[in-house]
Amino acid sequence: MRISIIGAGYVGLVTAVALATKGHNIIVIDVDNIKVDAINRGESPIWEEGLDELLLNCVRDDGSLKASSDYGEILDSDVTLICVDTISKSDGSLNLSNIEDSVKGIGTVLSKKRDYHVVVTRSTVIPGTTRNLIVPLLGKYSGKQVGSELGVAVNPEFMQEGKALQTSSHPDRIIIGEYDRKAGDMVRGIYDDISVPILRTDITTAEMIKSASNAFLTTKISFINEIGNICQKLGIDVYTVAKGMGFDHRIGDQFLNAGVGFGGSCLPKDLKALLFTSVNDLSYRPRLLEAVYDVNRDQAMRMIELAEQKLGNLANKRISILGLAFKPNTADIRVAPAIEIIRRLLEKGALIAAYDPEAMLDARRILPQARYCDSAIEAVSDSDCVLVLTEWNEFRDESLYHGKVVIDGRRILIPERAKAFCDYQGICW
Ligand code: NAD
Repeated sequence: MRISIIGAGYVGLVTAVALATKGHNIIVIDVDNIKVDAINRGESPIWEEGLDELLLNCVRDDGSLKASSDYGEILDSDVTLICVDTISKSDGSLNLSNIEDSVKGIGTVLSKKRDYHVVVTRSTVIPGTTRNLIVPLLGKYSGKQVGSELGVAVNPEFMQEGKALQTSSHPDRIIIGEYDRKAGDMVRGIYDDISVPILRTDITTAEMIKSASNAFLTTKISFINEIGNICQKLGIDVYTVAKGMGFDHRIGDQFLNAGVGFGGSCLPKDLKALLFTSVNDLSYRPRLLEAVYDVNRDQAMRMIELAEQKLGNLANKRISILGLAFKPNTADIRVAPAIEIIRRLLEKGALIAAYDPEAMLDARRILPQARYCDSAIEAVSDSDCVLVLTEWNEFRDESLYHGKVVIDGRRILIPERAKAFCDYQGICW
């Protein structure tokens, strides 16, 4: 199939490479010319395990993927996937301006096309966005009858950064929300070779499946962190409790790793957006989800409280930060717990020495007051306290922590062993 993808970020580029690798013909369109040029050279603008090699292969060897900043290229495709970012506004609602711009661009180009074409929402949006915003805009700018001359569908992405290629190419399920049946059939055709459950719904239900899935994942994390905080007071190990719970198939053992809380570009943003819409547009106050958000915000701050318990006033104390990315195997620091923790520590006058194997570039840009080190060893030398905030494998090296004060936010060390060689404190164990 000939597929155009709008937005060459994590979702757009990973989807593009995954689909090109399966034999589809892909054009990725982005407003950022630096990204476009990099992709056309076969260089990935984002870091994900294995992405560079596959991208190079698609661009250079078989020519199945190319990038452009020209929306006109959409005319050479049958389906367009919208993968632009939908970031939070300060009130928690989603900023849909990139969605609006892309839909206007798609609509304008499709006004020149005679054949049927399908436009698919793949970005995460609040339920109702495709019906209330995207469909009317497409109709207006294309001059076509949406649902007959122009198809619309919603096909949310469930990939996980850090293992993006694997989770995008081999999803647990595929959700297809269809405005018109033909659009759903065409999206179904993209996934002909994948044998996972496929659920076809209306467009708003598909959007809600994505929102509810992310809200549930955040609930699981805040739940186990709260249980961890209680367990710590009881002198019980929350990881043993989680293991015992996880054997129950109704509960499952995933997303029960207590720690410093969730971050990243999706979970906090999507939780806040659902809260905002619920309260402001639907007059329903989702108390459980409000608590999920509050528990997560407070959990990260426990790292600072624990550091103060160990060191007293943090002014001029040398704090080492191991890990900046919101999770391992990604360079993404968007809404990473480490960033807010460093900000607070700097406000308290602490001296920060930070290290992350992949995420230093962006961190340097937004927090230039911290010192960035070339290695974990350098970051922890001459330190009053080490905070572990991302579970990169290289931070499991016990020799990094000998004789140090360590506050572990990710269960990177085995507590009983660690207590023998450092002053060890887990965030909630
Ligand atoms: P991103 O910021 O990495 O990439 C977005 C890209 O869109 C950027 O390259 C930007 O230049 C481009 N863009 C913005 N406006 C444009 C326009 N009008 N025309 C063309 N290009 C435009 O974002 P992302 O992480 O890929 O997320 C995209 C969407 O997918 C979001 O709604 C996000 O919530 C959702 N999502 C993300 C993930 C994830 O793990 N990152 C997973 C599932 C869903």
